[in-house]
Amino acid sequence: MADKLNIAVIGSGISGISPAFILSKNHNVSLFEKNNYIGGHTNTVTTDENVRVDTGFIVMNDKTYPNLTAFLDKLKINRIKTDMSFGYCDRKKDFYYSTSSLDTIFAQRKNILDLSYYKFLYEIMKFFKLTKKFITYGNNDLCIGQFLELNNFSKSFEEKYILPMASAIWSAPQDKIARFPMLSFANFYNNHGLLSVTDQPQWYFVENGSSSYVDAFLKGFNGKVFKNKKAVSVKQNLNNPEIVFEDSEVLKFDKIIIAAHADEAFKMLENPDPDQVKLLGPWTYSKNRVCLHHDLSFMPDNKRAYASWNYLKEENMEKNSPACITYDMTRLQKLNSEKRYLVTLNPQREIEKNKLIKEIIYTHPVFTRETMETQDRLQRLNNKNKNIFFCGSYFGYGFHEDGINSGIKVCKIFGESL
Ligand SMILES: Cc1cc2nc3c(=O)[nH]c(=O)nc-3n(C[C@H](O)[C@H](O)[C@H](O)COP(=O)(O)OP(=O)(O)OC[C@H]3O[C@@H](n4cnc5c(N)ncnc54)[C@H](O)[C@@H]3O)c2cc1C
Repeated sequence: MADKLNIAVIGSGISGISPAFILSKNHNVSLFEKNNYIGGHTNTVTTDENVRVDTGFIVMNDKTYPNLTAFLDKLKINRIKTDMSFGYCDRKKDFYYSTSSLDTIFAQRKNILDLSYYKFLYEIMKFFKLTKKFITYGNNDLCIGQFLELNNFSKSFEEKYILPMASAIWSAPQDKIARFPMLSFANFYNNHGLLSVTDQPQWYFVENGSSSYVDAFLKGFNGKVFKNKKAVSVKQNLNNPEIVFEDSEVLKFDKIIIAAHADEAFKMLENPDPDQVKLLGPWTYSKNRVCLHHDLSFMPDNKRAYASWNYLKEENMEKNSPACITYDMTRLQKLNSEKRYLVTLNPQREIEKNKLIKEIIYTHPVFTRETMETQDRLQRLNNKNKNIFFCGSYFGYGFHEDGINSGIKVCKIFGESL
């Protein structure tokens, strides 16, 4: 076997943990993280009741997460079935439903006799059909908003179903979702069984909270782990590239893997080359405020309309308001606790102080035509003649499988696999 390399991984989310795990079998790996915990968006909070609640990454499925499934199996981490129902509630217009079952689709009993509600349900089926067809002939020149307009979907369908649901999935404001390239959206929806009532994959959460896999990784990891260690610059045009840290320490490595978000990765590069400028430069990230709490006013008034993901339309919300969604963690993680645990993304009003447990800021990649156009070429940044490599969920749709997938691809360049 070739000599062991000294490899640095910057960023300890799934995109950094996966190459650190794989490459540490045959190399010396150092993992650097600017936060005071390892895991990035994998962040389980232990509450005063000793309940472990996820605040970032929560769910995966058995169809579109093959690498993550294999990774968790290696770490001997269990997954438990959960449901991924979506609920919408507009208090002002007194309109709500949840997709759990026929009973919850008609959670609001007056809809049983309302013809306009049947038109709404018909439009959902029409959307499934036309979107599936679009995959066979469409392209990314069209965005979601244009697709809806071209096919005469009503404003009501847009406002009460497709935009809030997609805005919840990508944690993005509705106006940004309307500009999301249609073909990428259609492929994602199709792969995740979201264009069918019956073809949905089985979803799982990680037993005892998603950070359990981070703990298992750390337990078996034979490399070095550094928390509170922010990389501020990467000097790449050297035989042995260097990382300059915020505390002024400078360390040399044979290879450096940057598993931070694209904008952060770009910012730390000294003298970026033209490809790095073209491919990393366009990426921006949106800040999302995430609150863990017990305030039930963020759930629908009617318990029958409770879903795993609850989109609550508040009176002050505009199309460019940040996505506001409440995850019912008690339901999603099957928590056994007296109080109901909720995680709200971007609450549009204050959460009752005595019910707020924790507040965290996470950032998400903003997918636009410009950023998505870079994706076909992002792998160009990584080749065996270079000393600096990149991975992150921005190589795909922004989810956990995209992060681990990009990490595994970098390891292939080193001749290593999961
Ligand atoms: C609320 C929420 C819920 C989500 N739910 C799901 C879900 O259920 N399923 C799913 O598949 N995906 C989900 N996601 C998407 C999630 O973002 C991705 O799944 C994935 O976790 C992103 O991983 P990553 O490693 O690319 O980025 P991150 O997890 O963000 O990791 C990047 C790390 O790099 C570190 N870093 C950055 N700059 C530096 C620096 N200069 N020096 C040192 N360290 C640095 C950061 O601190 C961070 O820890 C969710 C995201 C959020 C926020």
